[in-house]
Amino acid sequence: MQNEYEIKKEICDIGKRIYNRGMVASNDGNISVKLNDHEFLCTPTGVSKGFMTPEFICKVNEKGEVIQANPGFKPSSEIKMHMRVYKERPDVQSVVHAHPIYATSFAIAGIPLTQPIMPEAVIALGCVPIAEYGTPSTEEIPDAVSKYLQYFDAVLLENHGALSYSDSLLAAYHKMESVEFYAQLLYQSRMLGGPKELSKQQVERLYEIRRQFGMTGKHPADVCVNNKDGKPSCHSCGGNCHSAGASDDKAAVIAEITKKVMEQLGM
Ligand SMILES: [Zn+2]
Repeated sequence: MQNEYEIKKEICDIGKRIYNRGMVASNDGNISVKLNDHEFLCTPTGVSKGFMTPEFICKVNEKGEVIQANPGFKPSSEIKMHMRVYKERPDVQSVVHAHPIYATSFAIAGIPLTQPIMPEAVIALGCVPIAEYGTPSTEEIPDAVSKYLQYFDAVLLENHGALSYSDSLLAAYHKMESVEFYAQLLYQSRMLGGPKELSKQQVERLYEIRRQFGMTGKHPADVCVNNKDGKPSCHSCGGNCHSAGASDDKAAVIAEITKKVMEQLGM
């Protein structure tokens, strides 16, 4: 098991990967790791996440209050968002927030990632909803994100960025990479005339693989209303409009229907 210093070093390493991949600009983004129910490590505000060393890392309690921080370092201004995830998802050990270009562009355009276009994204993420806009550092973002926490392991933050979380720091970071890759593929395939989506049957077979693997975390395949009727879910809910056909902007229709389904689910 890693000691605290090793975890701090890993946070710095992941910070470098986030920065080097262009998933943040300037001092943006933040990372946290749960040590136990009352102690969490988090990145400081006001520093580039690409150039951190272990002494930059702050320690906070479950309310986000500082337990330990070296002079000149203050915990991330988004710590409330991280703490809400830990509170409502006891399985989560790490939270990553960044502003990757493609995912954030979808979040700004108000388009959730719902089209099933590649196996890995369907298995790992299902789809990625958009949590309603909130002012950074207030309770607005935690409240908006809260609705989606029990159903997804990654969400877009409207007009802001993306949030991912998982049972380890590396897994939470990988979720962020997967969200961005999915968003980039979706964007670029739209430039090429629009993606050819996987069929409902293909999606259902991928969900089956996910179940067989016994993958951890939350996934929309496990919760959808249609799923309860033994029908394929999530993408296929949005996919009810696949037969609606003629619209050029099918993605917008799917996004709208997915939104409605999510509202009906109380999500
Ligand atoms: Zn942000």
